[in-house]
Formats: sequence, structure tokens, C-alpha cells
Amino acid sequence: MLIDRPEQLAAPPGPKGTRLPGADVLGELARRLAADTAGDVRFDLASRGRYATDASIYQIVPAGVFVPKSDADVAAAIAIARSLAVPVLPRGAGTSQCGQTTGAALVIDATKHLRRVLAVDAERRTATVEPGLVLDELNAALNKTGLWFPVDVSTSAQATIGGMAGNNSCGSRSIAYGNMVHNVLGIRARMADGGEVDFGPVADASGRAATLAGFVRELAGRHRAEIEAHWPKMLRRVGGYNLDVFHPQSVKPYTDDGSVNLAHLLVGSEGTLAWSRELTLKLSPLPAAKVLGVVNFRTFRAAMAAAQHIVTLVPTAVELVDRTMIELALANPEFEATMRGALIGEPAAILLVEFAGDEKAPLVARLARLGELMADHGEPGSVVEIVDDGAQKRLWDVRKAGLNIMMSLKGDGKPVSFIEDCAVPLEHLADYTDALTDVFTRHGTRGTWYAHASVGTLHVRPILDMRRDGAGKMRAIAEEASALVRTYKGAYSGEHGDGLCRGEWIAWQFGPALTAAFRAIKDELDPEGLFNPGKIIDPPRMDDGALFRFPPSEAPAPYRTIALVPALDWSAWDVQNDPRTEQVSAPGSGGDSTGGFAKAVEMCNNNGHCRKFDAGTMCPSFRVTRDEEHLTRGRANTLRLALSGQLGDADRADAAVREALDLCVSCKGCKRECPTGVDMARMKIEVLAQHAKRHGRSLKDRVVGNLPELAHTLARIAPLVNALAALPGAALLRERLLGFAADRALPRWRSDTFWRAHDPHLFATAEATLAAARSGGKAAVLFVDTFNGVFERENAIAAARVLNAAGYAVHTLAKASGHHCCGRTLLTTGDVDGARARADALLDALLPFADAGVAIVGLEPSCLLTLRDEALALRLGAKAETVAKRALLFEEFVAREAVAGRFAVAFADAGAPILVHAHCHQKAFAAAQPILDVLALVPGAKPKLVETSCCGMAGTFGYEARHRAVSTAMAEASLLPAIRAEPGAIVVADGTSCRQQIAFGAGREALHAARVLERLLPKEAAR
Ligand SMILES: Cc1cc2nc3c(=O)[nH]c(=O)nc-3n(C[C@H](O)[C@H](O)[C@H](O)COP(=O)(O)OP(=O)(O)OC[C@H]3O[C@@H](n4cnc5c(N)ncnc54)[C@H](O)[C@@H]3O)c2cc1C
Ligand code: SF4
Ligand code: SF4
Repeated sequence: MLIDRPEQLAAPPGPKGTRLPGADVLGELARRLAADTAGDVRFDLASRGRYATDASIYQIVPAGVFVPKSDADVAAAIAIARSLAVPVLPRGAGTSQCGQTTGAALVIDATKHLRRVLAVDAERRTATVEPGLVLDELNAALNKTGLWFPVDVSTSAQATIGGMAGNNSCGSRSIAYGNMVHNVLGIRARMADGGEVDFGPVADASGRAATLAGFVRELAGRHRAEIEAHWPKMLRRVGGYNLDVFHPQSVKPYTDDGSVNLAHLLVGSEGTLAWSRELTLKLSPLPAAKVLGVVNFRTFRAAMAAAQHIVTLVPTAVELVDRTMIELALANPEFEATMRGALIGEPAAILLVEFAGDEKAPLVARLARLGELMADHGEPGSVVEIVDDGAQKRLWDVRKAGLNIMMSLKGDGKPVSFIEDCAVPLEHLADYTDALTDVFTRHGTRGTWYAHASVGTLHVRPILDMRRDGAGKMRAIAEEASALVRTYKGAYSGEHGDGLCRGEWIAWQFGPALTAAFRAIKDELDPEGLFNPGKIIDPPRMDDGALFRFPPSEAPAPYRTIALVPALDWSAWDVQNDPRTEQVSAPGSGGDSTGGFAKAVEMCNNNGHCRKFDAGTMCPSFRVTRDEEHLTRGRANTLRLALSGQLGDADRADAAVREALDLCVSCKGCKRECPTGVDMARMKIEVLAQHAKRHGRSLKDRVVGNLPELAHTLARIAPLVNALAALPGAALLRERLLGFAADRALPRWRSDTFWRAHDPHLFATAEATLAAARSGGKAAVLFVDTFNGVFERENAIAAARVLNAAGYAVHTLAKASGHHCCGRTLLTTGDVDGARARADALLDALLPFADAGVAIVGLEPSCLLTLRDEALALRLGAKAETVAKRALLFEEFVAREAVAGRFAVAFADAGAPILVHAHCHQKAFAAAQPILDVLALVPGAKPKLVETSCCGMAGTFGYEARHRAVSTAMAEASLLPAIRAEPGAIVVADGTSCRQQIAFGAGREALHAARVLERLLPKEAAR
């Protein structure tokens, strides 16, 4: 149990759901939870702060956080909370956009332990699951049955079934499959009084379920006229409670046979009625074939007007991408070709129209029909047909990434989600979007449109500065948008739920009688108001600044950051933007008291994508612990709270931040995969530097940081050092002094370092290399880092031999004493000044070559890529930029030269399969593919990339005793099993620590790609 003084972060007395109980109550709550349950009890300030936000603009500090291990824990927690009159807030991934999961309550987080698939009945096409199960994990488990759960929300990699049901979530293909309400068959729920009720088909209901069904039937009957008069007749209506179960108003019936299912009352209830313990879902057959038609429109209005006609062709999705998003995609080298392939000329908007079925051929005919339909409506020749599955996936990925780029706008103005899922009938879509665009213009902003044209739900987020005048503009825009929704007979809340930002619009949408009926439902199911107060019933004002994550200056506790002089250059984030043009001001002009560090941290918008498990690297530590604290989001939130003084004094804040960052392996997975580019590895350097400024550096940090210098001294006396290290008790002493685990052997020192046992024949002089480059010849500088130079000189020699064999003049740097170093070891131990000095000297040595256009080729990913990454944040000026442009990993260089026809070597057959593990920094810089490309130069080789996150070694992390278990768990997650599964394969790993982890964990030697190529050189070249 972790418990702190139960003080408030930024939760002043306010409306229901925002008032915290007294300290004595919270203390008692924590004590009893710890005593009576097996779950994690977290009432410390930092943990509560991490659960105070979701993907909305709001922040309310919870009473405490409880992570149950079992349903019995949930039952006990609800009983304890009820006995102390503390509200309860159920939580999944916390990706709600409207503040549903923020509240001054006991948050119960189902994601860590309550995530099993309990039963799958393939014949009846049903699955029963626990609430914390993530949608993608469910669908992965279902894959072999040929079935899936088709409510394909964009957050499928992190959204939980409990949360999706809570919000009545909807996916891109809702036109074909409906929303959650159409796909939930039953919910076993725990009520406020501790009782359990099976919500399901009313016809089968008995006991309390039957009583509740009778109550709702009677209530609905009494309000039938109001329901028919006020209920939006839309598929996409998620506001209020589903009182229309007995008199359905949705254009798609809630059940296949028209029967009534009481579970649908809980769907969309946002955790306000009961805890969903088990959910039974309706599964659908996985479509065997899909095709995509991209309709290009000359005007945005034409696209909007066409949607109503396109849906008559019964597509499974019609998704909008507007001009802004098209341009963003075209500006991104990764997506440019895919987007260009989908365009005809310069359209103002495109609609992605998907058809699905059992076979491709009839679907292709439907694409032709789409073309004809568009011609009938004045858009002949406007459809690009995409039949290939890979090409379709690539285009869907572009659509998702476009949104991500939009969300990464720097400055205090952000695209704010509050009217982004109003749904209007398709015949009014064009008029509605025109009118709303005018509203934005009047309020000095604009919106980018995207998403679900098929069902009239277009996402649009005007850019507002919630720290300044955003609240007023938000209210005004919401009021004008709601008037439009009424004019066009739409639904104000059409996808993301009510929460705090749309709760007060429930009465506006449904009228007083139905609002009173909703209250009656709440009173019947949750008479004491235990569950998630302030949502759906008694919501606060949407623009109550006290509830904002960034409370404006007029709020009781405005958002302010502390003063801090950052060690790294964060000025690129210290900017403001113009909401009309999205142009950002000059670096350093944003008025950030931390020089941009805080604004970089605040880029995390809590969308929770770092919770994904499916692919990629982010976030390896969370993948092991499943604790919010060890998530990029948890870390960013901890930092934000600390930098804004919400975690108490400097020492407490420092301790909380260091704890949250302790398991961050600086893999940079987040830098690439976080939609807004949160680079926690760089932030960790800043945190360590700030800590070092106040408290100095530990012995271990000084040893590791100075390894490059130490290495030269120790290499001279390598036999002695190795002998001393082997003495009995030496390993234990090492663990005590430096924290390196006694049972993990450190690399052995060698006297024959690259620099001491230099082979001059392999290397050209600086003059010869520059001359070769200037005359258009083949030239490169090999930057040999500490690790390859001291412990594995064979890699550097191999790289030189391979490049020599292809005819390159290869130069390598020399230094009067020691060797040149990028500064990485000092950066990772918080000595930014020391790192700057080292990097500065290296840049000076490399600059003449970079100026002459010579490639700087490196072997160790984290060292070479420092030149393209942190070296640019060390305030080293233009030379850092010049060198960064020339810095390439060995494989990047060879792949580039091979494509240009300059690298040609007749390698021998490898004679074994090749398995590649890419270093995290290679993945973060899109430098993994070149390894495969280069190894594919070997005749017959089909190098296979192992889908891995971090290997868990991460510099010294895996050597440290306190990280040993987590490090091993990271390696065992996928890397080591994949290697063990292929005993005869050549294992390639470019990272020194990755090779060490593979040796430890799998007992296999992994090789740098340069070594593999060297072994396969033709005989005469190898000599
Ligand atoms: C970038 C982005 C894209 C999104 N795209 C979509 C989209 O395409 N479609 C869509 O519909 N939504 C979308 N959303 C909104 C959100 O992701 C979904 O609503 C998602 O289903 C919520 O899942 P969650 O696990 O995060 O739930 P949470 O946010 O944790 O909870 C949602 C609600 O369910 C309640 N709840 C959770 N667990 C339980 C339980 N065990 N018992 C009772 N109540 C419970 C909570 O109290 C809360 O009210 C998006 C959000 C973001 C940030
Ligand atoms: S760190 Fe990135 S991926 Fe994670 S929640 Fe924040 S913005 Fe999303
Ligand atoms: S650097 Fe890696 S471990 Fe650290 S937060 Fe980012 S993804 Fe997680």
C-alpha cells in the first residue's frame, strides 16, 4: 500500500463528483482496502494524480486508486467505499475524451488483472470476457475461430471491453455492425449494494433483473411520447441512458429479433449504474475479402453531399480525409507515396469507401458501381480502386496517422474535443459542416474534418487555448453547434459519450421529462449515488475552469509551471500557434518558465496509445508491470504534475518523478510511436540532470558516465582487472558498491582494443578520404564507439573490411589520448555538460568530413543515433545539424549505396536462416528495415525481423540488481522465445547490450550485421 497525506491536487470544493472526502475518511478507506483485499492500494499523491486525467481536457483528483486482483477484491472495495460514503469510479484504459473517468472517487482499475476471455462459443458466436480485456487482445484470441468483435474503435489497441460498453463505443464500420449496444448480449454486474445482477434478455430475466426490467418498462411506457418526440433517430446517439430499449429509436434495431435486452441499459451508462463484471458479446464472422474505393472530390461540400448516396451501395465504411490531412500525409516521407497513389489531381477531400464480403471478385464489381454512382453525381473518373490488401492497410494507416500529426501541434492552442462527434442525418451533412465551419471562423479558429461520413459523425476539433480564452470560446461554439444539431435533427453526443463536456447537454437534447426519467433510473439502480457521480446525472458545467487539466488564470488554482533552467534545449516546444493558420512562433517564444521542457511534457494528451501490446516497442516497462506508473502516459503525467508544483515540494516531486522513470529503459519507443512524439528518453536525461544539479551523481553513474575514459586505462591492465573481478566476493562487492547484479557477468576487459591494435591497412588517411569524396569517389568515415572499440573491435574491423571490399576509402578518427565519443554514457547518467564537451569534440573532428559530404558511419545504434538526436539538443549550433545530416548506421549507409548502384559485393550463401533483432533506437529512427535490406544482399537470404519490444538490457539497466527481474521479463516477452525457436539461425543484433542479453538469456552468440557480411565476403576480399 502506498499512502500519502490525502491532500487535494487541484480539486477545489465543487459540483458532485468533484468533492473529495476528508483526510480521515481517505485514510480509513486506504487502510481497510489494504487489510481486506489482495489488490494494490495507491493513495499517494503521484498515483492519484496519474488517475486524475483521461483523454479529455479535465482533471479531477481521485480519492485513491485500487487495482483489484479478483472480482472478490472488487466486491470488497465497493462494500468498503459504500460504508464510508466514498464514490466509486470504474476505469478501463482511461481513453475517454469527455472526462468520464475523472472524478473525486475511488478509481477501480480493471486493466491489470481482470482481463481474461472467460468463454468463447464459436457456434453461437458469443464470447464472455472480463471488463479489463483490451479489444485487440480479444480479437487476437478469436482469430483462429474466424470470428471477431467488430466494434472497431480507433483505440482498439488499448480500449477495454468494460470501457467500450461504458461509453457505448462505435467503430469505423458501425454502419455495418452497429455500436456496442448492438453487440452486447449480457452483462453480469455488481450493484452498489454488493448484489450481483445478470442483465440480459428481458424475456429470460428473473429475480432482481426481472424487477429492474419491470421498472424500466413502466418508466419507458410512461415516457413513450417524449421518447418518440425527443429521441434522435440516429444510429450514432450515445447521450443519456438507453431508456429507449423498450421503444427503440435507433435506425438499427438493438437486437436481431427485436427483443428487449436489459444489458443495453448499462451500455453507455459511463460507470454510473453498476460495475460490469462479465460481458457477453455478439461475435461476427471475419470478412474474407475487402476492397477500397477512394473517391476524390473537388470540393469538401461535394464529399459531404455524396455520403448519403454512397451508403446506398451498402459499404462497411465511408471515412473522410480532408485537404489538411491529405497535405499532412503528403508532407510525411513515410506516407507520401501511399497518399499520392490514392489521389487524382488535388482533391479537396477524399472518402475511403470499403466493401467487405466472402470473395474479392464481386467486391471489385461493387467498386465499379461506386465509380458509376459518382459519375451520376457529377464526379466522373473520381474513384481510385484499391484491391490489394496491403495497399488498403497502408491507406488506413495513413488516415490514422493524419490525426496523430494533427494532434502533435505544438503550443498552448490544441485541437479540443467537445463537439467532435455530433451526428446529423446524411442529407444534412454538407449544410451542417458548412455552417459549423462558419462558426469556427467567427470564433477565430478552424477545424480539420475526418472520420465517419457513413453515419453522419464527423470528427472536428477546433484549436483552442484552454489556459487562456478557450473556455469561453468552447461554450460559445458548443451552443452554436448544438443549435445546428437541433436544426438538422441530429444527436449532440454521437460517439464519445457525455462525461463532463456533454453531460449538461443531456437535458438540452432530451428535455426535462426524459432527464427526470434518467434520474429515476439512477435512483433505482444506484440509490446512494455511489457510482461515478456527476456523470449523466447532475453534471457540472462543461466550461468550469476549475476542472480543467490546465485551469485558466481566473480559476481558483490556475495552471502554472515552476521556474527551471533546462540542461537540454527544449526551445522547439516553447512556442505558441495561430489557431487559424496553425503556424507556430519562433522557438523559445512561447513563454514557458521551463524553457519548453514543460510544454514538451504537456504534449501527452492521455490518449493511452502507449498501453498497446500488439506491435512496436512502446512501452516495454509497462508491458512487464502493467502499472500506469510505468507507462509513458504515467511518466508524462507525473512530470507534468511535478513541473506544475502539484506534487508538493521539490524533494517529494523529485522522488515521485524518479520512481516513475526508474523502469524507463530509454528505448525511445515513445519518440516514434506516441502519436504526439513524447520522447521520454530525452525527458529522463533532463530529469537526471536536474537531480544531479541538486544532489550530485552516484558512484555508479560516475563510473558508467566516464566509462569511455576509464576504458583506456583499464584496457592497459586488462588481465589484472579481469583477475581481480574473478576473485571470490568481488561480484558481491560490485553489487554493493555499484548496484550491478552479482550473478550477471560483466564484459571482460581486453588489451587489444580497436585503437591499441589498429590495422592501418584497412583505413585511409583523412586527406585520401576527403580527396576521394571530392572527386565523386567512394568514401566514408567509420565512427568507432567505446563499446565496439573496447569490447568488440571485430565489429569495427568487419565493417571496414566490407566497405573496403566494395571499394570505399574508409577513414577512422584518431585522438592523441583516448578516443572520440558521442557522450551517450554521460547523457544517460545526467551529466549533460560533460556530454556536451565530448560531443563537441567529436563534432569538431567529424565536421570537415560532413562538410565535404562524406558519410559518417557508425555501428552502435545508440551512439551513432545520438548524433541525429540528443546532439541536436545540446546547443552545439550549426555543426551539429551538419554532422547529423551525414550520420548513418552501417546498414543505412550500405542500403543507400546499394540502391544507388555503388555498393556491389558478391557475398557467399549464408547457409542458415537469419533472425534479426533490431535495437530500439534503430526502430525509433526507422533504421530497422535497412538491416533486412542489407542482409538480403546475401544470395538466398530471407532475413526475418523478430517482432520485439526492448531486449531489456538497455545499457546498464539489465546489469543492475534492482532491475534484473524486469529486464529478464522484457527479454522473455518475445525476443528470447523467438531465438530459442530457431536453434539453427544466425542471430543478428547490432546493439551491444542486445547481444549481451541474448547471450545471457538464450546462451546464443548474436552478431553485428557487419560481422555476418564480413564472414560471407568473397575469399580474396576477406583477406
Ligand atoms: C485518439 C482517440 C480515438 C478514439 N476513437 C474512438 C472511436 O473510434 N470510437 C469510439 O467510440 N470511441 C473512441 N474514442 C474514445 C474511447 O477510446 C472509447 O470510448 C473507448 O472505448 C474507451 O475505452 P477505455 O477502456 O479507455 O474506457 P474508459 O475511458 O476507462 O472508461 C469508459 C467508461 O466506461 C466506464 N467503465 C469502465 N470499466 C467499467 C466497468 N468494469 N464497469 C462499469 N463501467 C465501466 C468508465 O467509468 C467510463 O465511464 C477515442 C479516444 C481517443 C483518445
Ligand atoms: S505518452 Fe503519447 S501515447 Fe502515451 S498517452 Fe501520452 S500522448 Fe498518448
Ligand atoms: S523510452 Fe521506452 S521505456 Fe521509456 S517511456 Fe518511452 S517507450 Fe517507455
